Amino acid sequence: MKICVLGAGVIGLTTAWCLSEAGHDVIIVDRHAETGADASAANGGQLSYAFVTPLASPATLLKLPSLLIARGSPMRIRPGLDPQLISWGVRFLLACRSAAVRDTVAAQLALAAISRDELTRLSQTLDLAFGLRTAGKLVLFRSPSEFDAARSAVTGEAGADHAQQVLTPAECLALEPALKLGARELAGGIFTASEQVGDCAAFCAALADRLTQRNNVEWLLDTPVTGPVRSGGRLVGVDTAKGRVQADRFVLCMGASSSAFARACGFYLPIYPVKGYSITLQPARDASALRHSVTDFERKLVFAPLARDQGTAIRVAGIADLDGKDASLDPGRLDILRRAAAEMLGMATGGDVEPWCGLRPMTPDSRPIIGWSPLSGLFINSGHGMLGWTLACGSARLTADLIDGKPAAIEAGAFAVRRAA
Ligand SMILES: Cc1cc2nc3c(=O)[nH]c(=O)nc-3n(C[C@H](O)[C@H](O)[C@H](O)COP(=O)(O)OP(=O)(O)OC[C@H]3O[C@@H](n4cnc5c(N)ncnc54)[C@H](O)[C@@H]3O)c2cc1C
Repeated sequence: MKICVLGAGVIGLTTAWCLSEAGHDVIIVDRHAETGADASAANGGQLSYAFVTPLASPATLLKLPSLLIARGSPMRIRPGLDPQLISWGVRFLLACRSAAVRDTVAAQLALAAISRDELTRLSQTLDLAFGLRTAGKLVLFRSPSEFDAARSAVTGEAGADHAQQVLTPAECLALEPALKLGARELAGGIFTASEQVGDCAAFCAALADRLTQRNNVEWLLDTPVTGPVRSGGRLVGVDTAKGRVQADRFVLCMGASSSAFARACGFYLPIYPVKGYSITLQPARDASALRHSVTDFERKLVFAPLARDQGTAIRVAGIADLDGKDASLDPGRLDILRRAAAEMLGMATGGDVEPWCGLRPMTPDSRPIIGWSPLSGLFINSGHGMLGWTLACGSARLTADLIDGKPAAIEAGAFAVRRAA
């Protein structure tokens, strides 16, 4: 079968690999000349297989007013009457129910488990260099109530593969000496030794290189998709800036632009762009190196040690701005990351810190959408939000299996389009 993959971020590239491995002829279309150039370019680097808490939760609902009003808050919503945001927001509020959160966590953990296996398999069989390391992840809590809630969920959520340790503030600081916080600033932490880190952009580049070596893969880069071509109630092609592309099946992996393409196809896809930022810093020679990846739970910030040619860089990432499609860098929002790096790790952030922002393709319940769309011939693998790097390889495996009509390794209904629409 000839299958056209729309989008060459981490989701499109892993999807293309699994389809090509399954013996399909694959054509990959992307508007950029380089692969992995949008949300996958400089994300937090955490492969978070055990800690998959969705953004929508009863706790987020309670905190929403203060989150939106507070100066320097990690979340911001552009005031206005964006109909896309309103219908997404209503679904987000419904997804904050405890039962919905439980379903999401169970589904995400199952997808995360196959993602980990697939990433391990790909990195070993293809010899991909992207700094994959089992660094362990320490999640820090400042509020006693948030800590208590997380602590009580520990054994149930993560599953047998991921032993989690509940730590006192002093134990957190002893485990991660690079932290410059005082014990009194913390309520406690949860450490998962099995969590990994890796550079998503380097992975995209390495996988694109292996895809180029396959004789059943074709590229159409630097080529914006301008719209769908339908015939007899079926998607038979896409129009692009370089002409029409025809195929037997299409897989939508256009990240935050997936909902616009779905709209042009005649159906609603609840994927909204949620802008996040990162900075990448080179630690001073005498600084104590960050050993593990760290998440500041309340501030929604992550700190990850990423391997670079010249040593280890520290990636600081976070912030969730619902600004529509505005992809510009706001210096005020970047300052939140600079201040956090200085306060948490004592790092100098005055100079060049490799500032970046990207649009997370976010569904209201934080679960990706993986399944056949209402338009025949179009499969969707998109909406991975805050965990796209973590979930990419499992989502690609699920996509290839469902397209081939093979039994899925996990319950696929949890990711179906109809549960989200
Ligand atoms: C600040 C930040 C930190 C993050 N940290 C983490 C983390 O630590 N761990 C984790 O697991 N995840 C993290 N994520 C999430 C993760 O990066 C995303 O979920 C993931 O990159 C989404 O991948 P994607 O391929 O769906 O989208 P993208 O990478 O955005 O790819 C979509 C592709 O579609 C193409 N496209 C769009 N429209 C068109 C068109 N009209 N024509 C042709 N091509 C088109 C784009 O050019 C792009 O290449 C983070 C995200 C952000 C923003």
